[in-house]
Amino acid sequence: MAASRSVAFALLLSVALPAGAGSATEPFEMSRDGFTIQYHARRRSATGEIFRVLSEARAAVSARLGTEAPPPVTVRFCESAQEFHESIGLRVPWYVAAVALPEERRIAVEWDVAFPSLRQVLAHELCHIYLHESLGPHARAVPLWMEEAIAKHVSGEWTESDEVVLQEAVLGGKLLGFGSIERDFPSQHRAATVAYAQSATFLAFAEQRHGPLVLRAYLDGVRGGLGHREALEAATGRDLDSLEAEWKEYLRLRFRRRMLADRVDELIFSFMAVLLLVCAGVVWVRRRRWLAEQDAEEFPEELGNGPSMTGYPPRRRGRYFGPRF
Ligand SMILES: [Zn+2]
Repeated sequence: MAASRSVAFALLLSVALPAGAGSATEPFEMSRDGFTIQYHARRRSATGEIFRVLSEARAAVSARLGTEAPPPVTVRFCESAQEFHESIGLRVPWYVAAVALPEERRIAVEWDVAFPSLRQVLAHELCHIYLHESLGPHARAVPLWMEEAIAKHVSGEWTESDEVVLQEAVLGGKLLGFGSIERDFPSQHRAATVAYAQSATFLAFAEQRHGPLVLRAYLDGVRGGLGHREALEAATGRDLDSLEAEWKEYLRLRFRRRMLADRVDELIFSFMAVLLLVCAGVVWVRRRRWLAEQDAEEFPEELGNGPSMTGYPPRRRGRYFGPRF
């Protein structure tokens, strides 16, 4: 499931889908190049764009997973949250706006949700279907967090929001235990975002530390009958507990460094602000002094302009119209 929403997808649709004629409820279906898309007739102007994005998503996922013959997939674009939920026939958290049903080789997506990238969302959902297709009954060996890690990592879904939520979880000690997200993700949006983000970074870290073939090797292991832990160990040469400890240390260092860099930026900004104030103060004092000197030259001490007998400061006579700096 893809859970992210933003304005980018809305912008894409507003460009690609001018308000067309036709009933919003009139069904429309078209098949091309291994995909069947179902949507409402007034969206028909987007047909070419949708097939193009689907093909790009399929190419990206197939290349990463090594899927040689991707199965045909039906994608339904729903006009409302109600239609979306009715079409999948499942209860899903409110923030979920795209779902893959691997057994039916079917994807459902809410039209009007602002995804950061439609291509990435479709790639994420296609990844679920291709994974189940290529692993067959062995797909059950893959825990949910690992499946979502693969879908998120392979589709390239990563937003600034993921980064912020993960940083807070790491620095606040709020990372979830992988054992707690083996079969279900949290229903709360923020906790679910942590679950998606930490899962994706775990797989990215394993590839970064142990080579780009880790995912392929892991899938080969599962397909060959290994359990999740054994397949991961065969792919990385490290057991899950050691790998998890290394990953946590990597995250801690990564976000501490970032926090330190942010603090240094703040210090530099504060220093520059203070320096600016000091410079402004110096200019002001110098100007006052220069004006006083000009006054002294223009109006030498005379009656009424010298020190007052009453203790008041000397009176200014006239007004200065000379240069200002
Ligand atoms: Zn997913």
